[in-house]
Amino acid sequence: MPANGARANEVVEALRSQVMSVLPADSQSFEVDVPVLIIGAGASGLVAALAAKDAGADPVLLERDLIPRGSTALSSGMIPACGTRIQKERGVTDSVEVMAADIAQKAHDQADPVMVEAICRESGPAIDWLSRTHGVELTLVEGFLYPGHSQLRMHAPVSRSGNDLMNGLSAAAARAGIDILTGALVTDLFADSTGRVHGVRFKRPDGSAEMIGCKALVLACSGFGGNAGMVRQYIPDMAKALYFGHPGNQGDAILWGQALGAELRHLGSYQGHGSVAHPHGVLISWALMMEGGIQLNALGRRFSNEHDGYSEQARRVLEQPGGVAWDIFDARLHELALGFEDFRQAEALGAVRKAPTITELASLIGAPEVNLGKTFEEIERLAGGEGRDAFGRNFSSKPVLQAPFYAIKVTGSLFHTQGGLVVDIKAHVLKSEGGILPNLFASGGAACGVSGPEDWGYLSGNGLLTAVSLGRIAGNSAADLVLGRQGRHEKVDPM
Ligand SMILES: Cc1cc2nc3c(=O)[nH]c(=O)nc-3n(C[C@H](O)[C@H](O)[C@H](O)COP(=O)(O)OP(=O)(O)OC[C@H]3O[C@@H](n4cnc5c(N)ncnc54)[C@H](O)[C@@H]3O)c2cc1C
Repeated sequence: MPANGARANEVVEALRSQVMSVLPADSQSFEVDVPVLIIGAGASGLVAALAAKDAGADPVLLERDLIPRGSTALSSGMIPACGTRIQKERGVTDSVEVMAADIAQKAHDQADPVMVEAICRESGPAIDWLSRTHGVELTLVEGFLYPGHSQLRMHAPVSRSGNDLMNGLSAAAARAGIDILTGALVTDLFADSTGRVHGVRFKRPDGSAEMIGCKALVLACSGFGGNAGMVRQYIPDMAKALYFGHPGNQGDAILWGQALGAELRHLGSYQGHGSVAHPHGVLISWALMMEGGIQLNALGRRFSNEHDGYSEQARRVLEQPGGVAWDIFDARLHELALGFEDFRQAEALGAVRKAPTITELASLIGAPEVNLGKTFEEIERLAGGEGRDAFGRNFSSKPVLQAPFYAIKVTGSLFHTQGGLVVDIKAHVLKSEGGILPNLFASGGAACGVSGPEDWGYLSGNGLLTAVSLGRIAGNSAADLVLGRQGRHEKVDPM
């Protein structure tokens, strides 16, 4: 984050001195009233805004930062989707059923199957619409499969950078004439006794407060990864871990939802990552592990099946001596990694070290050479077809690592939270006592995701999947509501 961004964050934190609240709307009037108000201008908010606009309802976005970036800009910009035009052009056959089965399997069947199906069904049309209608440049990520993906379905900017994804979405919003009020930290919602939100109050960087009324509100202000108190409360295992997401994600949607009687679920669920260069703080793609790389601890021993997934690996790495591990790979994988902007940045910062032999690798990572020797001997044996290792990893499908070796010291970190407001397939926020909140929608990190209750359920891409697919659903549903297209709500509105 640039220095001025860091200063802006300090200002925002100072403004955030009061607890986020929901206040009675009864005597409140709003000078300005907009059809669809959206809090948060990350991927989820921008996609919701584009959808609402296309559906005929004018949206306004409120974003606390001066330049909208969110966790989306920090991400690798990889959005999973099935049945897209881009997949078809590249000869990839995928379907809602296959994608939903992958998500369900990773979450050990503990994600709501109805939501999984609805979100997967929306994923392909959402990507086609973003690229065709809104000119957001996306390509299919080829060359490796993420853990648990049975098809190539990650769609990303060529650079594989979330920053470029944000640039693409922001440019699309500008072309569509969508208003984004930046430097607008929403602090309070005004709601009546039925839970209908009439408007919000937001604070400006100079400390002044403004109000705006709305017919429908979309919460797209993500989860609570940046709120240390909430992380301690809901995810104590990661309380001391590096938080790698956007600091603005303070759990505001959840706090407002709680006050409105919304149902919350899976607050212990999160996306971790077991491969952040330490102390450089740069993400090292898990493609290295999927294509044959390994992780060693400071004793020169492997400690897990790296192919289980990078999310649960955060906790496993933090459990190793010193809370660190080493990503080990070779020249073939170094070539692959150079396709990632983050990796190039890590290399420029000196995080990528090279060792011509096992002896030098042992000295580089400070581990007994005998342990490294045993580790490499075992991998060679397994690669020859002797079955799986003690952790369940199959080494026979990728080439064995060859000297010279590369090594990066990494640690585990918290990327973003996956629990949140429970929504239905139209992105309505549900009440804990049953029914929906009348005009409240949630998407992206603000909504409960499809990763089940813990860290192991996160399938790569589940974050931007709910930001984009559910964001589009939320924008469409909010527009339907304000335009009186109630027919499209009948099935899901039990009130
Ligand atoms: C390093 C990293 C890599 C990742 N890589 C991937 C990937 O490749 N693929 C993937 O699927 N997922 C990835 N993720 C997860 C992904 O980034 C998130 O799931 C996704 O960006 C969430 O989108 P969002 O719009 O909900 O939240 P965000 O992009 O975080 O946007 C939320 C916005 O709300 C604003 N906001 C918050 N509170 C308020 C308030 N009170 N008032 C006004 N504004 C507010 C914030 O400032 C922010 O701009 C990654 C995450 C990280 C940290």
